[in-house]
Amino acid sequence: VPIRLGSHVTDLIQDDRGRVIGVNVKSKSGASEIISASKGVVVASGGFGADIPFRSAQDPRLDGSILSTNLPSATADLLKECMRIGANPVQLSRIQLGPWTCPDEKGFGIGPLFGEYILLPFGVLLNAETGRRFVNELGNRKHVADALLEQKTPAIGIADTQGLEASGVDLSPAIRRGIVQTFDSIEAVAAFYHLNPTTLENTIKHFNQMFLEKTDTEYGKPLLKQAAPIVKAPFYAMRVWPKVHFTMGGIQIDTSARVIHRDQRPIPGLFAAGEVTGGVHGASRLSCCAITECIVMGKVAGITASMAI
Ligand SMILES: Cc1cc2nc3c(=O)[nH]c(=O)nc-3n(C[C@H](O)[C@H](O)[C@H](O)COP(=O)(O)OP(=O)(O)OC[C@H]3O[C@@H](n4cnc5c(N)ncnc54)[C@H](O)[C@@H]3O)c2cc1C
Repeated sequence: VPIRLGSHVTDLIQDDRGRVIGVNVKSKSGASEIISASKGVVVASGGFGADIPFRSAQDPRLDGSILSTNLPSATADLLKECMRIGANPVQLSRIQLGPWTCPDEKGFGIGPLFGEYILLPFGVLLNAETGRRFVNELGNRKHVADALLEQKTPAIGIADTQGLEASGVDLSPAIRRGIVQTFDSIEAVAAFYHLNPTTLENTIKHFNQMFLEKTDTEYGKPLLKQAAPIVKAPFYAMRVWPKVHFTMGGIQIDTSARVIHRDQRPIPGLFAAGEVTGGVHGASRLSCCAITECIVMGKVAGITASMAI
């Protein structure tokens, strides 16, 4: 199969019995061309995390003030084209946000190095005004991202050198870029983020106390074997605000990757795989399961399409 770059699929073409027999493609020069398909068309156009109008229609919280880890090409264009010819959309409002990103940089950035691997397992997330915790930092992505959005403004995440050492992460690129800040004391953290120093000291003291009690009585955060009280300088901190990361919803397919019409019958000649499809990951996709789904269902779609009559 020849691979063509810079070719934007604008329309799915059907015959008079509704079978998908090709696509209309627009090249970079603006010229349109029809590509015919003898067996069928496999849609693998990805999610719509960067499509602000479409995603905010599904979840009004996700307007343009929320950044995305996705490329600008992550739009709903082809998803909508599938829906135009009858594909059944499922669970479009289930949109995953990464709760470990920094609003001070675009895209995925370098902040998740600290957010995901040091802050959430070993540190604390604090409301930037009250200086208090508000969530089990090790809850699932949806749980933590929803709690972050409820704070209305970016939170402050703090961890210490023991957390850094336990993670095994090289944090220097994030520090060099000024995304993660380093401090000699908790008092200095409070001064930098305009937090009340006494409240912050009390929050950290209370958090550290739970290592004696062996339980987080406030939010039920599981204490990892390698976790320790936040006491050892330098301390590390970052502003944290979620970004749209993955769209669990999309067009409905069956286990043979056939696209399902809203009448619950397969649309002949149309197959789909990957993030453009919906319903596979439930309300909150588990980390690392997307690529597996793409590979498995992409292969299934290819096999089914090749056997189409
Ligand atoms: C920063 C980041 C990190 C991630 N890390 C992980 C991870 O560690 N593990 C994991 O499992 N998942 C991860 N994911 C999720 C995973 O990468 C995606 O779900 C997956 O790559 C989606 O693959 P896809 O083939 O469905 O779509 P994509 O990889 O998005 O590819 C879709 C392609 O279709 C093209 N396209 C779209 N519309 C059209 C059109 N109309 N005409 C022509 N072409 C079109 C796009 O330009 C794009 O090239 C991550 C996602 C991001 C953003």
